[in-house]
Amino acid sequence: MKDETLCLHAGYSPQNSEPRVTPIVQSTTYVYDSIEEVGEVFDDPTKSIIYSRFANPTVMAVERKIAELEGGIAAMCTSSGQAALLIAILNLCKAGDSLISPIQIYGGATNLFSTTLKKQGIECIFVDVDADEATLHKAFKSNTKAVFGESLSNPSLTVLDIEKFAKVAHSHNVPLVIDNTFATPVLCKPIKFGADIVVHSTSKYMDGHAVQIGGVIVDSGKFDWTNGNFPEMTEPDESYHGVSYTEIYGASAYIIKARMQLMRDYGVYPAAHSAFLLNLGLETLSIRMERYCYNAMKVAEFLNASDKILSVTYPGLSTDKYYDLSRRYLKGNSGVISFELKGGKQNAMTFINALKLASIEVHVADIRTSVLHPASTTHRQLSAEQLKDAGISEALVRISVGLEHIDDILADIRNALTQV
Ligand SMILES: *Cc1c(COP(=O)(O)O)cnc(C)c1O
Repeated sequence: MKDETLCLHAGYSPQNSEPRVTPIVQSTTYVYDSIEEVGEVFDDPTKSIIYSRFANPTVMAVERKIAELEGGIAAMCTSSGQAALLIAILNLCKAGDSLISPIQIYGGATNLFSTTLKKQGIECIFVDVDADEATLHKAFKSNTKAVFGESLSNPSLTVLDIEKFAKVAHSHNVPLVIDNTFATPVLCKPIKFGADIVVHSTSKYMDGHAVQIGGVIVDSGKFDWTNGNFPEMTEPDESYHGVSYTEIYGASAYIIKARMQLMRDYGVYPAAHSAFLLNLGLETLSIRMERYCYNAMKVAEFLNASDKILSVTYPGLSTDKYYDLSRRYLKGNSGVISFELKGGKQNAMTFINALKLASIEVHVADIRTSVLHPASTTHRQLSAEQLKDAGISEALVRISVGLEHIDDILADIRNALTQV
């Protein structure tokens, strides 16, 4: 089925007289007829559900929906996008291992990889998102266990050459993990291009209404964990009565280990109610993404033609550095645009404060248009030098175009520009 249909119907098929809408199962625990049965579920937690720290029927319906949308075999939701990144990496790397990632990624991912995981003995080797194959090969060490990248990056809006990264990762027998948050499975299907694991912050477009924080990890089921590089997948897990994940669960080894071992121990599973809200967002994802892309393209073209604007970054513009990669990997470029005003910080601030419809908020991908000045907010702690490296000038404005009528969005921008 197509995305529009999957968004509405995947993951939950009510039987005779059951609720039309995925019910909220607000229960931490589940009852059984005999203690033997509970024992059996402990032996194989894929058989049933015993505790909502790592499995819940409402959350699992959403997991099935997202897995289908991404073309994966299974998924596991987490309590935030950050938790999805953490579990996705810890399921591959332990102290003494390393991963490779472009520098141009979400700030929260940069902090996690460069500081918090480092304290736990996991090193991140940063490369440029445009690194050629030879440079990527050189970044590998004997302990490298994962390659990471964002399909459409937040906030720099670079587009990853997924096939190139996948090819290099696979030649070193490690999986490619793609953060597909900004693109969503509606605009990009990383697994089709060779990604092995896909992660999301569902707090962004998937939710869309700014009502829940969440994340998800999707397993393509395609990576060969028996290649010798991942003993934790193949050898007995002493913390789980000696299970070998590849032996018992085959293609689902990665996602089952993530749930049975890491979700059990870290407990970063979302609440049923959050999953219910996320599901409402997902139902309209496909149709919303079309309109975000349409509106943002109009705004990008308008800004590009204004003599008060110095530069516009939006991969949908034929003048954009990532236009060709966008055409190859994306069906659209989301609602996020960044641009620089002429006249530096002062004009950027004047412009933002003069907007009436667009609200100032630290969020993107909402149904309502929002705007931010990264240099004085999300990237405030960076030095002038670091700002330059991150490609964030004092004149830069980031706008997340929403679903208001395009005429009203443009009128607001036009009006604010007259104040500059
Ligand atoms: C927001 C975001 C995250 C973190 O997600 P939270 O839900 O805020 O924890 C990770 N990756 C990308 C690309 C994001 O935009």
